Amino acid sequence: MNSQIKTSGLDNLIFDNRFIRELPADPQTTNQRRQVFGSCYSRVLSTPVSKPQMVAYSREVAELLDLKPEDCESDDFTQVFAGNRLLPGMDSYATCYGGHQFGNWAGQLGDGRAINLGEVLNRRGEHWTLQLKGAGETPYSRTADGLAVLRSSVREFLCSEAMYHLGVPTTRALSLILTGEEVIRDMFYNGNPRPEPGAVVCRVAPSFTRFGNFQIFTARGELELLKRLVDYTIRADFPHLGEPSLDVYLQWFEEICRRTAEMIVHWQRVGFVHGVMNTDNMSILGLTIDYGPYGWLENYDPNWTPNTTDAAERRYRFGSQPQIAFWNLGQLANAIYPLIEQVEPLQQAINVYKETFERGWQTMVAGKLGLNVYDPSIDDELNTELLILLQLVETDMTIFYRKLAMLDMDVELSDQALMAPLMDAYYVPEQLTDDYRARLGLWIRRYIKRVQISGLPDVERRNSMNAVNPKYVLRNYLAQLAIDKAEQGDFSMVNELLELLRHPYDEQPGKEEFALKRPDWARQRPGCSMLSCSS
Ligand code: AMP
Ligand code: MG
Repeated sequence: MNSQIKTSGLDNLIFDNRFIRELPADPQTTNQRRQVFGSCYSRVLSTPVSKPQMVAYSREVAELLDLKPEDCESDDFTQVFAGNRLLPGMDSYATCYGGHQFGNWAGQLGDGRAINLGEVLNRRGEHWTLQLKGAGETPYSRTADGLAVLRSSVREFLCSEAMYHLGVPTTRALSLILTGEEVIRDMFYNGNPRPEPGAVVCRVAPSFTRFGNFQIFTARGELELLKRLVDYTIRADFPHLGEPSLDVYLQWFEEICRRTAEMIVHWQRVGFVHGVMNTDNMSILGLTIDYGPYGWLENYDPNWTPNTTDAAERRYRFGSQPQIAFWNLGQLANAIYPLIEQVEPLQQAINVYKETFERGWQTMVAGKLGLNVYDPSIDDELNTELLILLQLVETDMTIFYRKLAMLDMDVELSDQALMAPLMDAYYVPEQLTDDYRARLGLWIRRYIKRVQISGLPDVERRNSMNAVNPKYVLRNYLAQLAIDKAEQGDFSMVNELLELLRHPYDEQPGKEEFALKRPDWARQRPGCSMLSCSS
């Protein structure tokens, strides 16, 4: 035996595919679009692609899977995670789910272009499901092609990892691979289809189960299956709750409410707008899932949504996310009602969402302002006035909070001197009228007094603020610049942003250009300010 021969980490991956082992499979195995009844998933193979090419991979996610950089840089890896080859132990499948889309029940949706490869059991005993997005048709593809384009895949890949490093619960992304195939997309559904490079992202999460996975069974009256999936989910993903029982069902739902509230508080903290909070895009684990037409607030505007498909109603605008999550939890409560058959305890559990969100939001606001605690009797007013000020003139949310930490806490200073550190946050200097400056000056003086009551020394206040107010986020135009380059075959900016966003709270000298406000050219450019579901 030659001891020089290295075994690849890929060959050492151990798969323990609990979902497909313990839940009923679709008996039909042909890959045809159809309604799938009485099953949680359908076995399906990825569609092979002609010329897969690695664009980027996340070394932290690789580490979760006990993979080394050299494993990820191998040709084998590219073939496997483009969908051309299965590793021993992989057994690929698409899951069945339904959902409310924009408030209306849409029936069966399912993994239309997501193919699960299996569950890795890592050395720490954790299960991580691997899922390819864009690897071809499944029985759930409806009228679409099962594919994804490079543009949307870059966005999903970078944002998953950026969110993780921001401390926001999220599904992860292992790799981004070009397929070498062209995919036709009409980006704005306006009769201008064009070929775009195809790509596949490998997503990674403890589970990809959505609210909609439960809803579909209740909607169809498949209550036995509903119970099986709930019991399975509790045992696999919530083992600390103990064996399923009526009580445990309620505790489980309460925990989902709590986790969802915590996730939404984080979104509001960093200025993330999901864009399509349909119930099929809500993770049962409280993870941010399905990065489509999402966006980051540039100027603070609670009415903003990046999703042009939702432009008229703005159902999923930034300021509505907390209420929409609550509505979605109500749909999940309806779905599991047949297992509980009592309204009252479900009602109580769902109130946990409101309480958790309210408390979490207050703590988050206090954190962003550098206060040791949120005191509603003073801080409700202080914060409300700030949010009005942020909207009266175009103000970059990320820069504003970051610079707020730099204020000189001296009420003897002139208004002009006090507000000097904030000037970088304003998009249109002409909007800063005398009236506005006077109002902002007043607010800053109130803020300084409030900080003095709070009693945090200045260095501590700055450090704590800088730990929750990121300097670097995946600004919409930055993602678009990385996409423009990647479409020309230059992947450097994708990798540069991946690296930058690993440390969103650090100053990162030399990288300041990525913390600047959106340039004027990006204001109306598709991809920078407007996105659609076409991906
Ligand atoms: P979304 O709104 O993107 O979360 O997708 C809603 C449903 O449409 C899900 O069931 C997706 O799997 C499916 N879907 C979205 N895009 C495609 C596509 N290109 N091919 C097949 N199914 C898709
Ligand atoms: Mg989705």
